[in-house]
This record gives sequence, C-alpha cells and structure tokens, in this order.
Amino acid sequence: MHTGRDVWAELRAGNERFASGAAAGPHRDRARLDELVGGQHPRAAVIACSDSRVPVELLFDAGFGDIFTIRTAGGCVDDAVVASVDFAVSALGVPLVVVMSHESCGAIGAAIGAVRSGEVPGGLSRVFVEKIGPSVIEAGDQDRAGVEEAHARITAEQLIGRVPAIAERGAGVVAARYRLDGGRVETVWERFAD
Ligand SMILES: [Zn+2]
Repeated sequence: MHTGRDVWAELRAGNERFASGAAAGPHRDRARLDELVGGQHPRAAVIACSDSRVPVELLFDAGFGDIFTIRTAGGCVDDAVVASVDFAVSALGVPLVVVMSHESCGAIGAAIGAVRSGEVPGGLSRVFVEKIGPSVIEAGDQDRAGVEEAHARITAEQLIGRVPAIAERGAGVVAARYRLDGGRVETVWERFAD
C-alpha cells in the first residue's frame, strides 16, 4: 500500500526524469491498455490548469491508469471538481491529491488584473475572477509567481475542508507549481497523514 508521501516522491522522480530529458514514457503501450480494461487504480488525483503547456501525465513521466487528472482553466474548483476529487479518494482510493498551478497562467493573470484594477470582466470569464480573486487578495502585493503559488496552496487547503474523505482516508495533499521554463514541478505546500 503506497502512502501519499511515497506517491509524491514517485511523481517528483518522474518529473525529474522528464525535466532532465530522461523520460521513460512508462505505461503507454497496448499491454497497459489491456490491463486497465477491467478497472483503474490510479496513484494520485491531480488538479491542474487546462493550459496546453501543462500536460499532466507527460510532465510526471506517467501513462495510462496512473493519474486521475482534473483540469479546468486556472485550476478553478467548482462542485464538479470537488465531486471528482471525492470520487478519486473515496471510490478509487488514491492516497494523494495534488493541486498544481503553473508559471504564466493566463487565468491567474486575468484575475490579478481584475482585482488590482477593480475592473471585473463581463461574460463567462468573470468566473475566473470569482474563483481566483480570493487568492490574489490573500497573496497581497506578491508578483504573479507568488499568486500562482498562493492559489495552489489556498485551493489545496480548501479541498481538505470540502472533501471529508481526504481526512477520513488519510490521503496526502500537496500544492505545487509547474515551471514552464525548465519543466520542473516545485512543491509549494504539503500535508501528509503519516
Ligand atoms: Zn493556466
């Protein structure tokens, strides 16, 4: 039985292989697909941005069946995301939940602009300001990187409150930020039961 701490160490090792140009590309063949037809047993749930530069399985050097990935622009969390995390922890038994923001996130940049200018956009993009604005305010006068880190940490802390199964099952929770420049995932905050 892998603990959340073990799984985070495995994911970080995979990211190091990827970032250093030594990716192994595991679990991407036909045999792996056949193995998974009967069911999935992913090692982690990862909430990340939909940004096309942040392909979660690739940057952790993982493959089919390894990661339960939930992506929305800005890594915003709504009820469907919360329910998805609950499913991953309760039904699939993942021992680790990762909330990962990234460098130069457009949604976070838009939220910073709206909060600091006081001009909230109309239309559907308003939701990014609603979801990310509190992180911008809490981050204070930090730069965009600081807000990206704060958004990951605040989102992770909120998930612990909204998904009781995380505490009940003793799942670990990590906040991280992915650097586009260099391809490395940096740990921002972590909480493990063990
Ligand atoms: Zn983004």
